[in-house]
Parts: sequence; structure tokens; C-alpha cells
Amino acid sequence: MHEFSIVQSILDTVEGYARQSSASSVKRVVIRAGAISGIEPHLLQIAFDTFKGHTVCSEAALEIIIEPLKVECCSCSKIAENTNPLFRCPFCGSTDVRLLNGEDLILERIEMESSDAETQDSP
Ligand SMILES: [Zn+2]
Repeated sequence: MHEFSIVQSILDTVEGYARQSSASSVKRVVIRAGAISGIEPHLLQIAFDTFKGHTVCSEAALEIIIEPLKVECCSCSKIAENTNPLFRCPFCGSTDVRLLNGEDLILERIEMESSDAETQDSP
């Protein structure tokens, strides 16, 4: 399934970051997905919960932010924001629009718990 491979690469990336900052565990993973990225948020949640088990993310919650679609009109140069993927300019009605975003999947934020910080906080 599409979502499974996405989750695998998210987990790989998060694990890399966690190792870099010597974090003991990850609390929350926030991803930003474009409106037409083809992501099914609930499938992504299921995939995340299925695969996080033996990783640094085993206690982590996944948060998915769906980004509204943004298109630039090639006729009137205006930028429209719309989550409804009708590729039509709402200002002049032109269908000659350029997609500015919507297909991306971005790892927005990782909240980690560091073992080092814990030792410093309670000496
Ligand atoms: Zn237009």
C-alpha cells in the first residue's frame, strides 16, 4: 500500500533525526500533506501505528495537517487557495492555472524527548 511506504520513509527520517540529537523517544510527529498528495490521513494513521512498534516512534502520536491547494492563474496572475481540486481560477474563470503546491508531503515537526535533557533537569 502507498501509505505503508510513506510511513516507512517517515519513520526512517525521524529515526535519523532522533539519533542525531540523541533523543530517547519521540513524542509527536507532525506532517503536512498537500490536498492532492493522494494521502488518506486515516490510512496513514493506521500505517503509522502498525510500523512504529519497534522504532524510536513507538510512543509517538502522528498529526497530519492537510494543506490547502494553491494555484496561480496564468491569465490574471492571481493566486487562489482552495482545497477543492477544481483547477479553475475563481477570479477570471480561466482553467490555465499553475499548481503551486498540493502534491507535497513535508515532515513539519518532530517532538523528541532527550535523555541528556532529562539528566540535566534532575541532577
Ligand atoms: Zn485568473
